[in-house]
Amino acid sequence: MAAVMGRSLSFPRYAEYNCAFRYIVEEALGVKYVMPPALTKRTMELGTKYSPDFVCTPFKTLLGSMIEALEAGADTLLMTHGLCRLGYYGELLEQILRDLGYQFDFINLSEYDMGRKKEYLRIVRRINPKVNFARFLAEFMEGVRMVEYVDEITAEYYQNCGFDGTDGDYRRAYQEFLTAMYTARNRSEVEAGYRGVRRALRAVPLDKPQRPLRVGIAGEFYTAMDAFSNLELEQKLADMRVEVHRWMNVTNQFLRYSGQKNMHVKIQDLCAYEMGPTATANIWWARTCAERGFDGLIHVKSAGCTPEIDVMPVLQNISRDYKIPVLYLTYDAQTSDVGLMTRLEAFYDMLDMRKKVL
Ligand code: SF4
Repeated sequence: MAAVMGRSLSFPRYAEYNCAFRYIVEEALGVKYVMPPALTKRTMELGTKYSPDFVCTPFKTLLGSMIEALEAGADTLLMTHGLCRLGYYGELLEQILRDLGYQFDFINLSEYDMGRKKEYLRIVRRINPKVNFARFLAEFMEGVRMVEYVDEITAEYYQNCGFDGTDGDYRRAYQEFLTAMYTARNRSEVEAGYRGVRRALRAVPLDKPQRPLRVGIAGEFYTAMDAFSNLELEQKLADMRVEVHRWMNVTNQFLRYSGQKNMHVKIQDLCAYEMGPTATANIWWARTCAERGFDGLIHVKSAGCTPEIDVMPVLQNISRDYKIPVLYLTYDAQTSDVGLMTRLEAFYDMLDMRKKVL
């Protein structure tokens, strides 16, 4: 679809979801999407330099990525709403960027009542008043499907890539799939990319023991999912021949599960109240992993993330009740790769020895 002239919209880098943001903005909304550069040390330096000291790390990452998006030519920034202080971040991010001298249109979803369908129409019309709604709906749904494909293939990738019986074919198939998603311009290209990776992954012989070490990842929404922010935690574990399972992703949290009522019923004996945007899901997932006989759990959060700090004592109870070891990882802009690796290796050795003894 030809993009409407005059608006260049961007949304900060977030895991591998920017391929779907691009697809929805360009193919459904008919507006140019500016892909922010991949997150790097520079992104974090920019974000940290202009952020308040004690703000949680995703704020710094978002700010750094927004600056890089504006440098890359964006004139419109979209900011998500959120159930924790993320809901207030939009206002602060906008003010910091304006104080830095940038000129842009800022669409802050926290200013809309996202529980009402009419508000979505207002947002769509604000981005492109001439939007074709029939086309918008069809392409939007394809963008949503792309999110589901990315989550499905990513989950499968981290469960199996540590056991690739070839010289890296599994990883190559995953990378090619991501490239296909980032460049797809219509439904048939999206579907072809998905079918292609399914075929390619099936064709790779796996060298997997009958009972590999299995580790469940739980944690804060941004840090648990974004490989740059968690210093490629899942890849590091997979490279140690660990089967990695993470429930938390956009599909599971938002598309297939709306409201956490039923999930909360299942953990009521552990925690009587909702404690934050991802707390219930993380506690439920931690217990699910324990019940399935996983060898260990890793809890991932950003420094200063109050909701996930509240989850930690509950995880300790799960650890005690089910005799499952838990590693707690807290990330900030200074967390080093070497420090993380040392902790992961020690955790791996302990799990491995424990499994042999048990
Ligand atoms: S969940 Fe935690 S880290 Fe994420 S935005 Fe909220 S407070 Fe910050």
